[in-house]
Amino acid sequence: MAYVITDTCLKDVLCADACPTDCIHPKKDEPEFETATQMYVDPEGCIDCGACVAVCPSNSMFPAEEVPGDKTDFVEKNAKFYVH
Ligand code: SF4
Ligand code: SF4
Repeated sequence: MAYVITDTCLKDVLCADACPTDCIHPKKDEPEFETATQMYVDPEGCIDCGACVAVCPSNSMFPAEEVPGDKTDFVEKNAKFYVH
């Protein structure tokens, strides 16, 4: 089960800097960063370490099974960002 980022994300990239597997994007030097409304976790790369949650100032990250009921669609939205 991967972690999931939801719509209160501030795009401050703190989680991406803390992630040991580099599975949070887009980063500031990537073309999608300008237009993205939030950051996303690649479920294939996430190892459930929780390092991202510890640094998030807006409480936007949840383990997939703990995403609040009104935000469960973000599980799919995170995964979709990595399907091209
Ligand atoms: S739980 Fe760990 S591996 Fe998964 S997105 Fe957060 S920092 Fe990265
Ligand atoms: S640390 Fe939180 S607010 Fe910052 S980019 Fe990551 S999910 Fe968004």
